[in-house]
Amino acid sequence: MRVYYDEVFKGHETVQGHPENPRRLDYAVEGAKEAGARFVAPRARNDVIQLLEAAHRREYIKYVEDLCNLGSLTELDGDTWISPGTCRAALTAISAILDALDSREHSYILARPPGHHAGKSGRALTAPTQGFCIFNTAAIGALYGDGVAVVDIDVHHGNGTQEILYDKDVLYISTHQDPLTLYPGTGFPDEVGIGRGEGYNVNIPMPPGTGDDGFKRVLDEVVMPVLKQYGPKALIVSLGWDAHREDPLANMGLTLNGYRYAIKSLLGLNVPTVFLLEGGYNFQILREGSKMLVMEVEGLGYSPPEERSSSDHRAWSKLSNTLAEVKAVHSRYWRL
Ligand SMILES: [Zn+2]
Repeated sequence: MRVYYDEVFKGHETVQGHPENPRRLDYAVEGAKEAGARFVAPRARNDVIQLLEAAHRREYIKYVEDLCNLGSLTELDGDTWISPGTCRAALTAISAILDALDSREHSYILARPPGHHAGKSGRALTAPTQGFCIFNTAAIGALYGDGVAVVDIDVHHGNGTQEILYDKDVLYISTHQDPLTLYPGTGFPDEVGIGRGEGYNVNIPMPPGTGDDGFKRVLDEVVMPVLKQYGPKALIVSLGWDAHREDPLANMGLTLNGYRYAIKSLLGLNVPTVFLLEGGYNFQILREGSKMLVMEVEGLGYSPPEERSSSDHRAWSKLSNTLAEVKAVHSRYWRL
């Protein structure tokens, strides 16, 4: 497995005490190293700006560039910051995903800033902020690649990715905590895409406390069946470690066992898969999760140092209702 990392990703700075900070990468890199990962430095590419414009409006790109050039740490909104190193980091992340897709190998991109909340003009859909994101690396990769599907298992809905891909026949599946209980407040089952994109946007909101057993149902009953029918030639996984029960920002209740099941299921598709770091704010989980991912991909076998978690009765029955709704809405497009 290739692990893309460069020090420039730490050049994106946020305000003191911010959960999305450069130290996250130190822990993730350490975990990947413990697993014996092969590190690759992303190279600069000439086509990045052109591809950036396929996903974002020119005015927004210019606005971000201007903020990068201010020479000081600047607040873009209540959650999101831009520093002098932000543009270089964000553009290098895009280079990395393009190279990863070209390589046709399984890859893990350890980059910042994250991207899945960044919409065409920055703030996506009805979100109050950009949620730490600048440019949408996953969506840009999806638009660049041939026959790519995006699976987003970050605990937050990838509202930016949805917005950018909404009228495209590029499959986007997002599993996330119930938007009534968590930022960004979108990601309901009836958001299915429009025009050519109708049926290619699949949202599965999960109640807080879903746990590993509930997440397994989501994967087995919706995510994997839809993916198999779509038949992607490559996969981009927006990988946030923030659905873990020890994450400070959410309440999904997963353990690394739940993540491991997802990783193994997705690898079972046997297509080149790019795991792209999005959220995840517990340093130890970033380290251990990254180690687990590399070991799973390399076939080294890894046993998470924690017991599997399960849904409480209330979460389980709520999840059952949601899955029934998702299947009812999407049975027009997929055999579920
Ligand atoms: Zn997140």
